[in-house]
Amino acid sequence: MRRSPVWNPATGQQQAEVALASTADVDEAVRTAAAAYADWSQSSLSKRTKVLFAFREIVNARIGELAEIVSDEHGKVVSDARGEAQRGLEVVEFACGIPQLLKGEFSDQVSTGVDVYSFRQPLGVVAGITPFNFPVMVPMWMHPVAIACGNAFVLKPSERDPSASQLVAEMWAEAGLPDGVFNVVNGDKEAVDALLDHPDVAAVSFVGSTPIARYIHQRGTGNGKRVQALGGAKNHAIVLPDADLDYASKHLEAAAFGSAGERCMAISATVAVGAAGDALMEVLTERAAKIRVGPGRDPASEMGPVVTREARDRIVGYIDSGERQGARLAVDGRGLVVPGYEEGFFVGPTVIDNVTPEMDVYRDEIFGPVLSVLRSDSVDEAIALVNANPYGNGTAIFTASGEAARRFQRGVNIGMIGINVPIPVPMAYYSFGGWKDSLFGDKHIHGPEGVSFYTRAKVVTARWPHVDHAVGASYHFPTAS
Ligand code: NAD
Repeated sequence: MRRSPVWNPATGQQQAEVALASTADVDEAVRTAAAAYADWSQSSLSKRTKVLFAFREIVNARIGELAEIVSDEHGKVVSDARGEAQRGLEVVEFACGIPQLLKGEFSDQVSTGVDVYSFRQPLGVVAGITPFNFPVMVPMWMHPVAIACGNAFVLKPSERDPSASQLVAEMWAEAGLPDGVFNVVNGDKEAVDALLDHPDVAAVSFVGSTPIARYIHQRGTGNGKRVQALGGAKNHAIVLPDADLDYASKHLEAAAFGSAGERCMAISATVAVGAAGDALMEVLTERAAKIRVGPGRDPASEMGPVVTREARDRIVGYIDSGERQGARLAVDGRGLVVPGYEEGFFVGPTVIDNVTPEMDVYRDEIFGPVLSVLRSDSVDEAIALVNANPYGNGTAIFTASGEAARRFQRGVNIGMIGINVPIPVPMAYYSFGGWKDSLFGDKHIHGPEGVSFYTRAKVVTARWPHVDHAVGASYHFPTAS
């Protein structure tokens, strides 16, 4: 069996290894799920809701354990890991309302003696393929909703931090979910391809980088599956001269460097408009240099390491290229050494000024603690810059002007927008998703669109003929009477 190492990013040491599923292993998991689906899809809403509520209680009670597992394998600080688990829990709470969410429609007497009604049914076995950066929250965007809708679920988490998913599987079992409804297969491309090609997988939810999202969407839909594939991001924040720069800089730093920049909603590009530029750079530089970087388990750390040695080297390579291509390194995080953790995968917060759109640091998703600062002369020029970027996940504006904020929210081609809020991740009862290269498929994830994605509609036209009604059949196309 093939295996892959699992690192502790703070120490730089391997702490475990994960067995990578073969095509045959995936087939077995899908068969198990398909067998469990037969009963689960027939279970009452009341029974499903009881399991969801029990699961909610268990996740809530053991959220600290989940956070520590995430911190150890991903590297993010424990408080941040707890925050991600909390945002996942909110999706579970949303899914507890499934009886309300699955209510159908009914039209009485659309024609004489005829009623029309619609309802939604589950799809079957659905799969989730998830990234390393939110090992609890992103899978929870998917499985609570899919399972509440009556599907069976196969999760293929990231091979870089697989352990949290094992604990989540235990929690589902403890909550009374029948065996086989929630399944975890660990693996890499072989397991993913097996899910994409399996005839008994009805739908695939993917979250990860853009090239893989595009591939998943093409291969999955090519095989006739329903696919939502959320991709990478390059989220811009526009700062106008009328913004409170102290407030803006604090929020920008948290949004750029929290979780070492490994968030799909991280701010990685700031566009300073007009006079905001130099003043903003002054506060950003001062603050970034003071961020406490250390192991995720140390409560004093504000930012942890990045996930792997390769990730660190890639990020450092981008900082090198920014310097080579003429940007100014205002704060340089290369070469940061954390005492006692000399082998850890650390990169310090980095702020690069005078970035221009053709530079690699701007064009590519770096996915590390690197904030690029660009300058523009007007809010319209800044909006044009946001719109020219191929990614469309999130964006934010800092301003005191309602008029500018409104122009921004209406004008940007982006799925999630913050107004003086740098990481506008929608609450669980809204849906999460980007535009352009940040999402392939047409349904956003969780919230009402999640329920829609994991179910399909039936519309029934019914007549119960009464003996007194002369109901004649006709050869012309039926119309109401
Ligand atoms: P990734 O694309 O490398 O991996 C995601 C998943 O795809 C993993 O389960 C992985 O095993 C699998 N995978 C990797 N290469 C594959 C291949 N060649 N064929 C088939 N499957 C493959 O992403 P990552 O590095 O784990 O996560 C970071 C990325 O995810 C960033 O680009 C980030 O922006 C993105 N992300 C997006 C969102 C969003 O909501 N849009 C949320 C979180 C993360």
